[in-house]
Amino acid sequence: MANERKWFDVHDPEPGIFIIEEPHHVERVKSHLNIGEREAILIDTGMGVANIRDVVEFLNSLPVVVVNSHAHWDHVGGNHLFDEIWIHPAEAGDLAKGYPNTRMRGWFGPSSLTGPLPDDVNLDTLAIPPSRATGMLHEGQVFDLGNRVLEVLHCPGHSPGGVVLLDRANGILFSTDVAYAGYLYVYAGDWLQTYHQSLTRLAHLAPELRVLYPSHNERSISPGLLPRMVEALERVIDSHASDRVDGDVAMYDYDGVGVYLFPARAGK
Ligand SMILES: [Zn+2]
Repeated sequence: MANERKWFDVHDPEPGIFIIEEPHHVERVKSHLNIGEREAILIDTGMGVANIRDVVEFLNSLPVVVVNSHAHWDHVGGNHLFDEIWIHPAEAGDLAKGYPNTRMRGWFGPSSLTGPLPDDVNLDTLAIPPSRATGMLHEGQVFDLGNRVLEVLHCPGHSPGGVVLLDRANGILFSTDVAYAGYLYVYAGDWLQTYHQSLTRLAHLAPELRVLYPSHNERSISPGLLPRMVEALERVIDSHASDRVDGDVAMYDYDGVGVYLFPARAGK
């Protein structure tokens, strides 16, 4: 597992949860392994650089079900290594396309890498193979892993079929790419309203939550950030002046929360 050890960092913030992080890329992607008494759920499968299944099998011997938070490349890279994959139907079709080398290469330029790629990775051939969903997620679906229950909340906005996973008993929200520390990516038009609705819904849950484990940047964030994310999006919706514009992107900074709005000049 030498190459996997070099590419991934594993953290165990609390019993039954492992954060499998990819620290050598600026995206700092995280996949989350939840281990119950009968089975385990792996939320996302990373960037496809090294074999995440080897890491998962090192950490856990129970059957593993993959739940994809969405179908963007940086969360489905290892899907092809697993047998059981659940995703929201709005994005299930995307899995079949995979991501070819022509696209992947662009995401691993010198400005994206903050550490070495594993020795056996060739940037001229690196690609994400197609994969296939074996189950379709729906709002309110519950995965009972045995003494650990995860509930699916459909939270579109970052992507049409984006989901977060809620562990109510333990006050944990796996907030995926819907809510994380750093700039939220927001698209002008209807998606902005949709994203706002999703974050508003999560902000209402904040008082019941102890911690958020997002899929990028900081490994854990405070539920108190959720209402501020809602307020940050409201500034964008209300057409406040952005703080900076860089090409196609308007940037908003609000009380420790940031928004990147694409394209900068569209919207109301
Ligand atoms: Zn992502």
